[in-house]
Amino acid sequence: SDHSLTYPNSPADMDWASLYPTYAVKKQEQEMEDAQNESHDANEKTQRAVKAISKNVEIADIGCGFGGLLFALAPKFPDTLILGMEIRTSVTEYVHEKVRALRVQNASTNGYQNVSCIRANTMKFLPNFFQKHQLSKIFLCFPDPHFKQRKHKARIVSYTLNSEYAYVLRPGGVVYTITDVQDLHEWMKGHFEKHPSFERVEKVFEEGEGEDGAGMDECVRAMRVETEEGKKVERNQGLKFVACFRRIEVPPWP
Ligand code: SAM
Repeated sequence: SDHSLTYPNSPADMDWASLYPTYAVKKQEQEMEDAQNESHDANEKTQRAVKAISKNVEIADIGCGFGGLLFALAPKFPDTLILGMEIRTSVTEYVHEKVRALRVQNASTNGYQNVSCIRANTMKFLPNFFQKHQLSKIFLCFPDPHFKQRKHKARIVSYTLNSEYAYVLRPGGVVYTITDVQDLHEWMKGHFEKHPSFERVEKVFEEGEGEDGAGMDECVRAMRVETEEGKKVERNQGLKFVACFRRIEVPPWP
């Protein structure tokens, strides 16, 4: 249950500095910025000063589970902040522990400082976590299929949720989806294709794609082989359905 979850009133209210401590903005720097922008009251200034970071999260892994994809992406995008969002408390704690351990092990190179995780129900208040057009990539990897018709409303892809993904994703940004359930694949494809803010990316594989996936877009490759579910499906020799959707530059409305 998510009754105990709390949500920030806005992205500026999030304690980002505790998630990405090496990116924390020093109080004075923030105060100088705030002095230039006098609209904040004193209280808000101090609050923002201790919570802010020098760059925004750009990659979100929604329903990140145990974080296999997060830890694969972190070294591939060392200058980009990556956030996993997961509803289960114990799983979120596991990811936090792993982040802590990896940061210690890689302290000499500042490795894994760019990856973190929060406990959240992403079906609620996603725009409270991210500003408009903040993200460049959203991953929806092996979402719970909710097979029964009456459970379809619990799926994390719907017209309404896609509008939220469109809001937080910048034009040109990409939603990456993967599932082993063909019915869910068709569902996700259908909902993104009919949404005016998205278009299917037909060519998600780069030149030189081979049987083993060599040359595949590195994000697609990571979500196929580095997610816990991807590994499980691999062991069971199951199929994986991938579909990617680009946030189009100009939606077809005025
Ligand atoms: N993405 C991971 C992977 O590919 O290995 C985990 C996939 S697992 C089947 C689905 C995950 O989504 C679970 O860890 C579940 O707790 C999480 N989840 C389901 N609904 C969620 C929601 N509304 N908000 C955040 N996480 C959610």
